Amino acid sequence: MKTYQGSCHCGSIRFSFTSPLIDQGLRCNCSLCKRKGAIMSSFTLAPEELTIEVTGDALSTYSFGKDIAEHNFCNQCGIYTFHSTLRKPGHYRVNLGCVDDINSAQLPFEVFDGASL
Ligand SMILES: [Zn+2]
Repeated sequence: MKTYQGSCHCGSIRFSFTSPLIDQGLRCNCSLCKRKGAIMSSFTLAPEELTIEVTGDALSTYSFGKDIAEHNFCNQCGIYTFHSTLRKPGHYRVNLGCVDDINSAQLPFEVFDGASL
């Protein structure tokens, strides 16, 4: 297990979590994720497993469609940091591009077929 630290680009949103070593990611082809292009964690985190620190009111939420997933982003720098997932409501996936010590561009990834939901 390893404790990871992450943040948005400007640092207004910081987060940390402990998980097994991250050696893969997940992409989704839904209408939002294909626009973001982010590589997300393949695992989900329960709310108590994700520590979130926000400066001011930088943390914003975007939902669409059936409103089940809540996509969180920084309203200062615009970066998507994590979201509460469709497959496990209330649980989070994080943007691996925001996580320190991970070269997210070189991780292998699976594709979740969110477009077909
Ligand atoms: Zn930011």
